[in-house]
Amino acid sequence: MELKLYNTLAGKKEVFKPIRRGQAGMYACGPTVYNYAHLGNLRAYLFEDVLKRVLLYNGYKVKHVMNVTDVGHLSGDRDMGEDKLEKGARREGKSAWEIAAFYTEAFKKDIAALNILPPDIWCKATDHIKEQIDLIRILEKKGFTYITSDGVYFDTSKFKDYNKLSHLKLEELKEGARVEKNPEKKNPTDFALWKFSPKNTKRQMEWPSPWGTGFPGWHIECSAMAIKYLGKQFDIHCGGIDHVNIHHTNELAQSEAANGKSPWVRFWLHNGFLNIAGGKKMAKSEDNFLTLDKALVKKGIDPLVYRYAALGTHYRKPMEYSEPAVRNAKKGFDHLRNQVRELASGRPGPAEKRIDKKLKEKFLAAVNDDLNTPKALAVVQEAFRSKLKNEDKLAAILDFDRVLGLKLGAAGEDGELPAEIRKLFGDRERARKDLLWTESDRLRKVLETRGYIIEDTKEGTIIRKS
Ligand code: AMP
Ligand code: ZN
Repeated sequence: MELKLYNTLAGKKEVFKPIRRGQAGMYACGPTVYNYAHLGNLRAYLFEDVLKRVLLYNGYKVKHVMNVTDVGHLSGDRDMGEDKLEKGARREGKSAWEIAAFYTEAFKKDIAALNILPPDIWCKATDHIKEQIDLIRILEKKGFTYITSDGVYFDTSKFKDYNKLSHLKLEELKEGARVEKNPEKKNPTDFALWKFSPKNTKRQMEWPSPWGTGFPGWHIECSAMAIKYLGKQFDIHCGGIDHVNIHHTNELAQSEAANGKSPWVRFWLHNGFLNIAGGKKMAKSEDNFLTLDKALVKKGIDPLVYRYAALGTHYRKPMEYSEPAVRNAKKGFDHLRNQVRELASGRPGPAEKRIDKKLKEKFLAAVNDDLNTPKALAVVQEAFRSKLKNEDKLAAILDFDRVLGLKLGAAGEDGELPAEIRKLFGDRERARKDLLWTESDRLRKVLETRGYIIEDTKEGTIIRKS
């Protein structure tokens, strides 16, 4: 079945065709590690995870590359202001290197908690300074650069179709760029490839270069690392929509200028924002910033509830964060897990691979239509309602979970329920349904002695490790 994806570059949905048969190369702009990722950032990585899982589900071999921005991202997305890492270091009284290492680990923990498959290649900007310098050298040789008192810049007027990703008029892009004034730039949209360390200041992170000691601009790292690991032309590049007009537009311009090949990337995919009430974007620079830990984990809510909530909104649509929305998602997710547990409890052993063809086609049609996860969740409910045998329902649902990533085969965060516990739980469910209270209480106690707690809720019974 065809896989259709909304390609920002084309401005429409297109059938995905990879450059190499059966393989998909995918680059996702990673975190800037000067602080925790917030729920909005994590929405981007959840969308990319679904994209990757859908590619795998369609039989593609996926090479997924993600960078870690540990230098050079200035406080505005443009080239003025302070380096976020150095600023973070000052805030916390640590070195910039310590800040980067700490928040990289925190990020890895967050994505693991959300059951996001780790990239095949993690790459750090500071490990690729040479590649970035080499790329700037090529651009210089080809006449795309100029030097000012504070750095080496890319001359956007030399690149034809600078606006092809944003679909904005050049004037509109220039207007957006005028916010940060730099009188030495030839065009407002020009951007730094290399910044010089300020005179008489020793930065914690700086390197020698042919143009002077300094550090790379933010955009150049993604081009250098994507080209290194995925080639001069590859399939998919993704990130949040805030990246379209500046970061990705600049990545595209400098990469195509250096490679002399177009398109650099065939498919550009972007997720919509996570907003807080009132439609304001959740951002690290605002105080509306909520982490997974604060919004869910500390409240005893399984982080996968956030994954479930994200799946309930199409990735390109705005999504609103609020406490009631999280509570609602929790209800929905608990209910779904209970539905699965009830199916699993009557099951003698692991599900056989008998996946109903029609149902699978419906599920695939949903996810292959630009990752329509709300529809895919509806197909899961259709599976519960179907006339299939319980074990066949379960086989289909667990197969769909390869894309959804909700760990539906597991009893909460501790992994699959052992067969013996599953049997006891099923017996107890039946006893309760038949109103055999003494027996149901006895089984609850047996489960407790084995380390499992049973909770009867409005949505059904929940079992978890004590
Ligand atoms: P950053 O660490 O700021 O470079 O952002 C990491 C990823 O999160 C990028 O793909 C951004 O486009 C994305 N992002 C940032 N804020 C939001 C938000 N409020 N909602 C959705 N995605 C976002
Ligand atoms: Zn990037």
